[in-house]
Amino acid sequence: MKFPQKAIDRFNAKINKTSNCHEWNASKQKQGYGMFSYDGKSKPAHRFAYLLYKGDIAENMVVHQTCENNGCVNPEHLELQTKSQNKKNYNSTHVSKEMVEKNSVKFLYRLRNVRPELEKEIDALLMLLVSEKTKDEDDFGFEEIKKENYI
Ligand SMILES: [Zn+2]
Repeated sequence: MKFPQKAIDRFNAKINKTSNCHEWNASKQKQGYGMFSYDGKSKPAHRFAYLLYKGDIAENMVVHQTCENNGCVNPEHLELQTKSQNKKNYNSTHVSKEMVEKNSVKFLYRLRNVRPELEKEIDALLMLLVSEKTKDEDDFGFEEIKKENYI
């Protein structure tokens, strides 16, 4: 699809390119997808990137980020999937501690919505993440708040 150079420049100015993902640096919606306003409408930035660099998106297709980073607009990480393929990906995903280590918290939240049967497992992982974060803070000299201080 052809876009005016002005829009392309504006789009590129909002991207923080790393050696892996191209992180969207402007407004994002709740799930972390970048939003880009074009032609008076706010569009998901990764969809715009797909249209810009790869081609049209048929009506029954979704643009999937192979890196599972919702904020990524790297065309190399974008591929088309049918909606049912997209859902199948979630259905075959196993929950692991690595997901937390890779910091795919948003992915976990998304997965939890799609597969309620994994809710407990995912919540346990998220709790783990929270407690690991707290540990880091302690290492930086934060005072440990004892439970009895709340009572
Ligand atoms: Zn990526």
